[in-house]
Amino acid sequence: MARVGVEKLLERLLGVKGPRVRGARFEPRGVVVEVRPPLRKSRCGVCGRPCPRYDSCPPRPWRHLALGRTAFWLSYAPRRVECREHGVRVEQVPWAAHDSHFTRKFEEMVAWLAQRMDKSATCRLMAINWRTVGTIVERVVAERLDAQRLEGLYIIGVDELSHRRHHQYLSVVVDHLKSRVVWMGEGKGEGTLHGFFDKLGPGRTQALTHVTQDLNAAFSKVVKQRAPQAVQVFGRFHVQKLANETLDEVRRGEVRDVSGTQSAAAVKKSRWALLKNPWNLTLRQGEKLREVQRLNRRLYRAYLLKESLAKGMDYRQLARASEHLDSWSRWASRSRLKPFVRLAKTVRKHKQGIVAYNQTGLSNGVVEGLNNKIRLVMRRAYGFRNTAALKAMVFLCCGGLVLNPPLPGIA
Ligand SMILES: [Zn+2]
Repeated sequence: MARVGVEKLLERLLGVKGPRVRGARFEPRGVVVEVRPPLRKSRCGVCGRPCPRYDSCPPRPWRHLALGRTAFWLSYAPRRVECREHGVRVEQVPWAAHDSHFTRKFEEMVAWLAQRMDKSATCRLMAINWRTVGTIVERVVAERLDAQRLEGLYIIGVDELSHRRHHQYLSVVVDHLKSRVVWMGEGKGEGTLHGFFDKLGPGRTQALTHVTQDLNAAFSKVVKQRAPQAVQVFGRFHVQKLANETLDEVRRGEVRDVSGTQSAAAVKKSRWALLKNPWNLTLRQGEKLREVQRLNRRLYRAYLLKESLAKGMDYRQLARASEHLDSWSRWASRSRLKPFVRLAKTVRKHKQGIVAYNQTGLSNGVVEGLNNKIRLVMRRAYGFRNTAALKAMVFLCCGGLVLNPPLPGIA
């Protein structure tokens, strides 16, 4: 085959717009393709402004997508330029981001896989380590995240999540209508949420109609202060979570109190049978529940209270929901179960916010789905170098980012 033919073939195979292929060679690490940018004018790698040339660097490789088992590398000796603003920098190349050792197509593929696949599969397929995935995700998200994501917010949710084995917190704001994460701040509590409202500004804050949040968060105060027109909503997801935690507190208390008695066996290993929705129980868990019912009436009462509160969240009519909450609170405060007496107080105090959930028309499944997804992604991001990479990963997977990697197929 003529030499020109091979070069055209390579250009086509690489699928990278811009570089002109000048030659290729086999090396132990794969095929190294020598390229050069199509335009001779040099530009600053940081800002892209045309700049005078300063000197040149030795050739360097950029990792490109592999073809089958053959790795491809682009090789080019970039020039250095002198930018008025950034000083002496390596020039911009059309196939890669500044300071990256990978081509854009490679990075887009890595990010697309990281959105969908687990850690080890992504690393194995692309032959890079997980920290590098973090760095790539940061770069792709910085370039591609929707800059308009804070526009047109009406119903938002605020939440704080712990990461790094519960030592640090991230505060997360989601757009419920578009079901995506729009803001994240390090830390928790009032100060962090003020940071969000500062960024949002008074105009866009005015447009908020509902804010869903945790029942016992310090967020309530900030929302009242910064967005007084917005209805504070305690999402069903949060109410259920609190009911589950309260039930578990009773269970732990019972484990301590009944040890050595007959009902100890019933309490033992009952956690999942009690916390799961009744229609999801396995046969054995069902039996466990009946055992609890027979042998530990206090714990079974706590179970019924949890179920009843969850059921009350199903009412679509405000009046009925409100009525149910009232009678539930009366029952809970007479239950002689301290944790539930406390929960009854909380429910009474936040009743308006709990029934307001009906007005939002939000589906619990969607809200809870996004919440769970954020938690899963945060767990997957363990091992990233820093919080910036963790945040980028959450934006990548839950920020509504649409990527377009060069997938195999018939063109
Ligand atoms: Zn510059």
